[in-house]
Amino acid sequence: MDMRDDVLEVLVSTEEIQKRITELGQQIGRDYEDRNPLMVCILRGAVVFLSDLIRSIPIHVMVDFMGVCSYGGTNMDSTGVIKITRDVDANVAHRDVIIVEDIVDTGLTMKALVDLMKTRGPNSIEICTLLSKPQRRKVDVDIKYCGFEVPNKFVIGYGLDYDENYRNLPFVGVLKPEVYEKRKEEKG
Ligand code: IMP
Repeated sequence: MDMRDDVLEVLVSTEEIQKRITELGQQIGRDYEDRNPLMVCILRGAVVFLSDLIRSIPIHVMVDFMGVCSYGGTNMDSTGVIKITRDVDANVAHRDVIIVEDIVDTGLTMKALVDLMKTRGPNSIEICTLLSKPQRRKVDVDIKYCGFEVPNKFVIGYGLDYDENYRNLPFVGVLKPEVYEKRKEEKG
């Protein structure tokens, strides 16, 4: 079965993503010249974005990874109470941190992450997200680098999953509602 059969519509094409990432990479290169930023990729959704993004940044950067999950939340809803499943190896103190995320939805996860990072004494913290759903925001998050704003729909692909599937779609699309309705029925 082809995963694409579960896609209702393509929201952001592969070409649009690559073009925007090239722009973001150039912008980060200009903004962080001689500062060797620490790019903290939030697992697992942001890995696809990170791997393309760093290759479009013309300056030295460091890469690290952080695993986060939302306590009591589901894939489709977060709670704002986060659990760190894997922490960064790097010492964040005095570093210029760029948090690389796949999507900022309610903003609860990102706010909790930024608050946590701030306690570690970085020189600066900025957010770089591939996608943002401004209509869903519950808390204010200051996003410096945003790929695309998307409507209030559940999206998949280019790193974003539904139940750990669809991350390897090369575009961002909307999942057919019957896919998660069927899954809900199966799980009872
Ligand atoms: P927030 O705390 O509500 O901003 O949620 C952030 C996390 O929820 C993201 O890092 C994603 O893992 C997940 N998420 C939110 N919206 C979507 C979506 O449309 N598709 C896939 N994952 C999503």
